[in-house]
Amino acid sequence: MKKIIIVGAGLTGLAFAYECLLRKYDVLIVENSTEVGGLARSVSHNDCRLDIGVHVLYLKDKQVRAKVAEVIPQEKWLSVRRNGKLYLKGRYVDWPPTSRSLFQLPLGFSLRVFLDQVLKKKNEESSPNFESAILDLYGPTLYRSFFQPLTRKFFQTDPKKLHADWAFSSLRSATKIEDQSFAQSNQYLTQTTDAKSKRDFNIFKFLSQSLKTDRDNEPFYYFSDGFGALVDAYKEKILQLGGRIILNKSVTALKVEQNKIKQATIDGQIYEIDELVWTGNPFALCRLLNIVCPPLDFLHSKFVYAFLKRCRKDHQVCYYADSDIPFVRATILSNHSKDIIRNKNVSDVVCLEYPFKSLEDLAANSTDIKLQVIKELIKLKMIDQDLDVESIFEIKVPYSYPILTTDYREKTAELQQRLSQFDHLIVTGRQASFNYENSDIIIKNVLHHPLFRS
Ligand SMILES: Cc1cc2nc3c(=O)[nH]c(=O)nc-3n(C[C@H](O)[C@H](O)[C@H](O)COP(=O)(O)OP(=O)(O)OC[C@H]3O[C@@H](n4cnc5c(N)ncnc54)[C@H](O)[C@@H]3O)c2cc1C
Repeated sequence: MKKIIIVGAGLTGLAFAYECLLRKYDVLIVENSTEVGGLARSVSHNDCRLDIGVHVLYLKDKQVRAKVAEVIPQEKWLSVRRNGKLYLKGRYVDWPPTSRSLFQLPLGFSLRVFLDQVLKKKNEESSPNFESAILDLYGPTLYRSFFQPLTRKFFQTDPKKLHADWAFSSLRSATKIEDQSFAQSNQYLTQTTDAKSKRDFNIFKFLSQSLKTDRDNEPFYYFSDGFGALVDAYKEKILQLGGRIILNKSVTALKVEQNKIKQATIDGQIYEIDELVWTGNPFALCRLLNIVCPPLDFLHSKFVYAFLKRCRKDHQVCYYADSDIPFVRATILSNHSKDIIRNKNVSDVVCLEYPFKSLEDLAANSTDIKLQVIKELIKLKMIDQDLDVESIFEIKVPYSYPILTTDYREKTAELQQRLSQFDHLIVTGRQASFNYENSDIIIKNVLHHPLFRS
């Protein structure tokens, strides 16, 4: 029987383990935190189930939809009508755009956005970066009032130092635009966003498609008990099929013979390996293999949850570009499902997402966070008064986002090249392969992995 060790019990590791077990492989998962699910888990606190930021599924792909239905019964799915917002010029604007959006922005601002398109000049930069890519697509008005400040706040970096790939991958993810390049690769992060693909991001095309979309027939999917229900269901299936999961541990040594990975040491015990599937931190993998990891940049996140007694907003997620608002995104988790709340003193839960460039900054304790949050939520008209906040809770998540700097392609190619010398090693998942895929794509990628082709 093929012996598979999977490092990391996030969605990638769990989905991979499940497919291996269906093929009767011997599977051991090792996860260095206290629970499974990684970024896709839900955490219990204050009698509420809390996701890590916003987490939803789209299930447009039939194969992925069927797989999710196999893992978690459809009775547990919730189909939710998308109601997102952008906070722009001090106003809440529908996102994705609706016919109302046209009246939610100041008229002068909309006219300037339109004029930018008419007066658009072709950008001649030979190696485009995030800034030049967005200026090319959407012009200076939208760039300076939204994309630039949001990107600066998120990455704490000059947008010129980010690769143009970040522009397209984040647009694909936030807008669900399925340009040619996405259609061919089924990846948010592609290196083939050519002129044809870029035409699909055209603002008028996007607006007209968005306005034509029947929102009732374009829902996203969620689970009544929180997004983490999916990873919990995977875990249950894995255990039923005889898979083993070791929590709170990692691989401490690997035995490599003639570039073949033969054994792994976990918690002092040695395990034989036919295939090592690594979905965890790439720096740790390189250390075990005794190779140098290129200096990949990651962003780290803190999620602050405010338990509210009353909330004035009915949207699910909103992006905040303004530099005087310290978080980048706020998600009212209870507007996905009220069932996540079992505390009778709480009516809503909002999750605020704060980015950090360094692990030291992430680890530092913030003072007066409750007072700051109350001030912001009142300013943003989410609550009326301080008494509307019952309590605050925070979760710190290291390595939450890859940072696609202008040299990231060279660095990831170097990493792949160094890892490619090892046999019986599969490197996949968000951290390990430095990608930016969502859960739908992760499940699809696992189903299409060469190991499962026969
Ligand atoms: C804020 C945020 C919002 C998102 N929203 C959505 C959304 O709405 N919809 C969507 O589809 N996707 C969303 N995503 C993306 C989605 O969460 C990820 O694509 C997916 O969960 C990644 O799964 P993964 O298993 O590859 O990685 P992870 O979830 O990061 O899992 C990796 C696991 O490996 C463990 N690990 C790391 N190193 C080691 C080691 N050395 N040894 C042992 N274990 C290790 C970690 O503890 C972790 O459990 C979002 C991501 C973020 C950050």
